[in-house]
Amino acid sequence: MPRERLYLFDTTLRDGAQTNGVDFTLADKLVIARMLDDLGIDYVEAGYPGANPTDTNFFAEKRPLRACLTAFGMTRRPGRSVSNDPGLVALLDAQADAICFVAKAWDYHVRVALETTEDEMLASIRDSVRAAKAKGREVLLDCEHFFDGYKANPAYALASAKAAYDEGARWVVLCDTNGGTLPHEVEKIVGEVCKAIPGDHVGIHAHNDTEQAVANSFAAVRAGARQIQGTLNGLGERCGNANLVSIIPTLKLKAEFSQQFDIGVPDEKLHTLAHVSHTLDEMLNRAPDRHAPYVGESAFATKAGIHASAIMKEPATYEHVAPETVGNRRKLLVSDQSGRSNVLAELERIGLVVDKDDPRVIRLLDEVKDREAIGYAYEAADASFELLARRMLGKVPHYFEVEKFDVNVEQRVNAKGERVTVSQAVVKIKVGDDTLISVSEGIGPVNALDLALRKDLGKYQSFITGLDLTDYRVRILNAGTEAVTRVLIESADESGEHWTTIGVSPNIIDASFQALMDSIIYKLVKSGAPA
Ligand SMILES: [Zn+2]
Repeated sequence: MPRERLYLFDTTLRDGAQTNGVDFTLADKLVIARMLDDLGIDYVEAGYPGANPTDTNFFAEKRPLRACLTAFGMTRRPGRSVSNDPGLVALLDAQADAICFVAKAWDYHVRVALETTEDEMLASIRDSVRAAKAKGREVLLDCEHFFDGYKANPAYALASAKAAYDEGARWVVLCDTNGGTLPHEVEKIVGEVCKAIPGDHVGIHAHNDTEQAVANSFAAVRAGARQIQGTLNGLGERCGNANLVSIIPTLKLKAEFSQQFDIGVPDEKLHTLAHVSHTLDEMLNRAPDRHAPYVGESAFATKAGIHASAIMKEPATYEHVAPETVGNRRKLLVSDQSGRSNVLAELERIGLVVDKDDPRVIRLLDEVKDREAIGYAYEAADASFELLARRMLGKVPHYFEVEKFDVNVEQRVNAKGERVTVSQAVVKIKVGDDTLISVSEGIGPVNALDLALRKDLGKYQSFITGLDLTDYRVRILNAGTEAVTRVLIESADESGEHWTTIGVSPNIIDASFQALMDSIIYKLVKSGAPA
């Protein structure tokens, strides 16, 4: 049976830009648009020209993409003509392939928010679709609050969608704007809509307020819809939009969908999904969600030793899909529950060849267990584990030595009469026969120490220039009789690789120092710095 085409519409740059704390620059938007295009997304909605300078600039010139570049905006204002509505005129002039209009599909909003009549709203939809088509644009209509509207007044909700479709809109998109609709309701209502409008002209736009935006998208597809709107990593207002990073692999890897549908994302691009997801987090300066389905660091992680030995023999025993298909990897957690098979598998992944009966494997396992008993957590710190393993095998050169460091924190009144807290670190290191002393000020003591440590590593300095600390996490643990501090530091470098290191000590500065040192040494090992 020939497969049907199912279309993906990304709104990371429009609806996703509504997320708290997200503020895309024009340069960010261009990078993300290209990334989505490269992935094989059909529609890239890049913003709302006229709403802010970034979006206006984005659409001020042609942006060549394979995907259908879409501009978002409102239908003409009630009581005005198309040519008399400056917002609409600007939208029609935007350099876009398609225009996605938004219109009220809930009669309550028409009355209360727009203070107009249903007939005028329907006329506004028809006029706007016609004007955009006359400009040669493909047209979509986002039917805002469609599901709540349909429950309140099905005749009007359907009429709003039908007005756009009858006027020649390529897609009418049913929006669960408040995000409270449940999958069985979505399936039922979309099924009813598809009796009036062919499903290959119907889209779904789901929000995640009941954690079911992805399920709602699939419910709509089962009922006949053939376009899914969503965002990367489920970015979006409140609880977010439907997460395309979960939707894409489900469509490609689950037989129920893959046998029935083709999507624009080719197999070879599916392998880049984890990278795409992490790149967006990187741009937003967020730590990736470790537990994200398919692409999270823990998505294919196994802790217990007995599972690990089964996975090594036959991965399908504990994995619903192969991690490589989405660019992720299997991870066997090295922890106090783990057996020798976990350690061996991790050594193999790192590329360290060791005989399985080598006594050093047991020594390493014992060392991990001893350290975890005092607060280390190697499952969260892959780079520190790798260093521990390499040291056990004598494969970490002695690059440099920190003879001493001194960190001070001073609170005082500055020249302007304000109370300020300043931190300064002095680090004395020995590289070969050279003694190097570096001094740095930082926004806090750990920052000052980090800057001083990385300021001058002598002959190794060139190997760490791309090193960047991307996340710093602190936890106070109650291990035994006294509280200890566990510090996890995530680092990245110019190649885009991320790694995590750990330090544990009753003293937060000392714990941070251990994690910083591991990060620097890991980078030196990874860069092949000579001993
Ligand atoms: Zn939305």
